[in-house]
Amino acid sequence: MPVYNADGSSNDAGPVCHTVDLSIHVDGHSKVATFAVTNTGKSPVIVGYNWLCQHNPSVDWCMGKVTFNQCPASCQPNIPHPETDFV
Ligand SMILES: [Zn+2]
Repeated sequence: MPVYNADGSSNDAGPVCHTVDLSIHVDGHSKVATFAVTNTGKSPVIVGYNWLCQHNPSVDWCMGKVTFNQCPASCQPNIPHPETDFV
């Protein structure tokens, strides 16, 4: 799968040849997701629109906080989703 940077240029790491299933834990929020392995520069991971749409977190851009308060029941419904720093 080819990889393109935000400016439309090809990623120096080349195409994605491997994926990995990782368990994501952010405070009380847990989920297994499949990640494509490539060079993401200074960011350890990049989540896509589909992931954001599924979990639909509230974002306070001024305070740099993400709150998982609108997740589907499959995201550990017995554990509250506290605010999470993302900066
Ligand atoms: Zn979620």
